[in-house]
Amino acid sequence: MQQKLARQQKHSANRRKTIAAMWRLKRREADRRGDFAAQVANQLATRHSAVVLEDLTITNMTASAKGTLAEPGSNVVQKAGLNRAILGKGWYRFEQALTNVARYTGCRIVKVPAACTSQTCSRCGSVDPVSRESQAVYRCTSCGYSANADVNAAKNILAAGRAVTACGDLGTGRSVKQEPLTVAQTARNPRLSSGGEDVN
Ligand SMILES: [Zn+2]
Repeated sequence: MQQKLARQQKHSANRRKTIAAMWRLKRREADRRGDFAAQVANQLATRHSAVVLEDLTITNMTASAKGTLAEPGSNVVQKAGLNRAILGKGWYRFEQALTNVARYTGCRIVKVPAACTSQTCSRCGSVDPVSRESQAVYRCTSCGYSANADVNAAKNILAAGRAVTACGDLGTGRSVKQEPLTVAQTARNPRLSSGGEDVN
């Protein structure tokens, strides 16, 4: 459509139609992203008592590589593409969706610092950037543990989150093994949502 747009007369009716069609497509893309975020957030918040998130500084991560006029940056186009890919995942929107559902299900959202989560071995705890063999593969240089790099990082994030909750506010409210109440149940009997009582 962009190719078509480039060939069309400025201010023509057909050009306007193409622009409108492009916006519709973008809108659909954004809707799908929002839908995905809402559904996954709902699944996580209803099936788990806590969800641990990596506290990513998305604003810093997606800063432009352009640099200044005196000191121009390198790989500006590549970085712009990476930024688009990062922002296109809708991480912040997902976090918002998750926090929103968690208010109703009693699921706790814990955020942990992102540093070293992908370089640490989730089995022996040694930190070595070399262990991160590639984007997908993690192989520990000291104990030989091997796993998908994202799975290994996720285990570290979960462990870090558990460490926070262990000395934090765990043990208040409903049992963590209990099925969370649905919104309808809570509305019918507001007493249940106050926590403390054993509704099992
Ligand atoms: Zn190891």
